[in-house]
Amino acid sequence: MMIAHPGSEVRVLIRSRPTANFAQELIEYLPDGQTVSVHQRKDSRKGVVNNQLSSWSFRLDGVLHDVSQEEVYGRVGRGVVLGALEGYNGTVMCFGQTGAGKTYTMTGATESYKQRGIIPRALQEVFREVEQRSDHAFSVHLSFLEIYNETLVDLLASVRGCPGVGPGGMAVVEEAGGGVSVRGLSLHPVHSEEAALNLLFEGEMNRIIGAHALNKHSSRSHCILTVHIESRSRTLSDAKYVTSKLNLVDLAGSERLGKTGSGGQVLKEAMYINKSLSFLEQAILALADRRRDHIPFRQTKLTHALKDSLGGNCNTVLVANIYGEASQIEETLSTLRFASRMKCV
Ligand code: ADP
Ligand code: MG
Repeated sequence: MMIAHPGSEVRVLIRSRPTANFAQELIEYLPDGQTVSVHQRKDSRKGVVNNQLSSWSFRLDGVLHDVSQEEVYGRVGRGVVLGALEGYNGTVMCFGQTGAGKTYTMTGATESYKQRGIIPRALQEVFREVEQRSDHAFSVHLSFLEIYNETLVDLLASVRGCPGVGPGGMAVVEEAGGGVSVRGLSLHPVHSEEAALNLLFEGEMNRIIGAHALNKHSSRSHCILTVHIESRSRTLSDAKYVTSKLNLVDLAGSERLGKTGSGGQVLKEAMYINKSLSFLEQAILALADRRRDHIPFRQTKLTHALKDSLGGNCNTVLVANIYGEASQIEETLSTLRFASRMKCV
């Protein structure tokens, strides 16, 4: 069985969304399964007609084009999940413009079982393994955090018996030993895949309801579902508890603002998203630079909350979702550039 061995680098994969207006002449998926090339007519925006093309090639750890949800889980999720069961923290993140397939990749479509995304498959695998590994006693908890404009929201606060946020509100706090936790974020014990899925759906419902109440769009926030795993050998008499966190992250849409006049709230959201994504990039770049001993985790809530689950002794996988529509080629290029910067480290 494949188990991911943590390294300091981030694995970066591209996933494309199938669309009717697929920009076939613009985006080329090379047979090596690792390279995407984008071709754009020179000066096309200035209306100059010529046949010269500008081309860019991006080589990554994998390109998932026309690939089933099952295969995506196998190539992106499984190793990180199995690593977490062995005690390694891990993070799977989806990045890209709104509509590119981040939520489809993480959560999947509810219409059919085959279209389940990484999160339900990961939960299934966790409980299957917990049942099979009878030489260990496991305990599993879930938390579901939303970060909107640098504000932390507990997506599972509505669950019955939830203690509620104490005085001082929610905050990312540093723990002795280098870990982090979110004060005020509820942790829910789960004993089965079904119970975990119920919490996932409740949290997603709260994300949508909360977005409506504040008149915001749910794609403007980051969401982190964390599976907290604790295990202890049943056979060794002096066995220690091993703990790990598996973070499954649906990032806010990375698109830049269009030229259309955007209102104050939209601008503010875009500013916060921009800031957190660029600090995420800085943190990942700094982690890969072994000469750096200071990693700027605390500049934004997103990286601070993930501080103990990125780089180092963790498994980190970034999926860059691209739309592939001809009309979205600029955003696609920008996502591919981000992905390859993360890959080059
Ligand atoms: P995002 O979360 O990045 O904004 P979504 O995941 O909501 O984007 O995807 C937008 C739409 O495209 C959804 O209806 C989704 O079901 C569909 N979609 C995205 N990726 C795929 C894919 N690989 N295969 C089939 N449908 C997809
Ligand atoms: Mg989404």
